[in-house]
Formats: sequence, structure tokens, C-alpha cells
Amino acid sequence: MNLRNCSRCGKMFNYIGGLPICENCKKLAEEDFQKVKQFIEENPVAGLKEISESCEVSTKQIQQWIREERLMFTSDSPIQLQCEKCGAKIQTGRFCANCRSKMANNLNDSFARPKPQLQQPVKKESKAGMRFLDT
Ligand SMILES: [Zn+2]
Ligand SMILES: [Zn+2]
Repeated sequence: MNLRNCSRCGKMFNYIGGLPICENCKKLAEEDFQKVKQFIEENPVAGLKEISESCEVSTKQIQQWIREERLMFTSDSPIQLQCEKCGAKIQTGRFCANCRSKMANNLNDSFARPKPQLQQPVKKESKAGMRFLDT
């Protein structure tokens, strides 16, 4: 048992991972999310404050969903998100497509680098290597 206080309602609950909120609040948060999502679909030009007030969900919570890429905004939405790296306009998440692909490349690089080392034959090659040095 890993008891924690729910970060939403403060009740003790058995923490199993993910967000530190209890089952009941999880359910409520999901309902809030659906409400917000639907509201945005019906009111694509609503601002953050309007969404927050109409759905009775904190702007902080809405911004968290945006960062988690659960909410998307159209280009005519007054909610303008900016890439955290270059400041370009984005519709969801934290980074623009450009920065994201750059970051993905960096990830690939660091994945690719250790590979040749693994492929190098272990001790066998030391002889061949020495001969190579002699010539
Ligand atoms: Zn709770
Ligand atoms: Zn960017």
C-alpha cells in the first residue's frame, strides 16, 4: 500500500502511479476533460478564460491538457500556444513540429552512436589491429 493525499481533494488514497489523484477525482477529471473538449469543438473561437468559466475547470488544468497534447486548437482560436524552444505558433503540446523533429533526430543520434561499439568484435581483433599498426 502506498497511501498518498489526493492532490485534488486531499483525501488519502492508494497510489498506484500516474497523477497523484484518487479514483474519484480521476473520474471527475475525465468528465471535465470531455466537457472542455466538447466545448472547444462547439466554440472554436473561445478563449482560455471563457472555456474555464463555462466548463468550471481551472485554466491551469486546461493548460496541462494542452501540454499533454490532449486538447487541440484551430488556427482561428484566440488561444495561441508557443513552442517552448523557438516561440513558433503551435496548436497543441509544447514544441513545434520543427523543434520536435530536431529533438527526435538528436534522440536517434544518441541511439545510433553506441551501436558500432557493440558491433566491434571483442578480443579477436587485437591481433589484426596490431598487424595493421606494424605496416
Ligand atoms: Zn481526490
Ligand atoms: Zn519550435
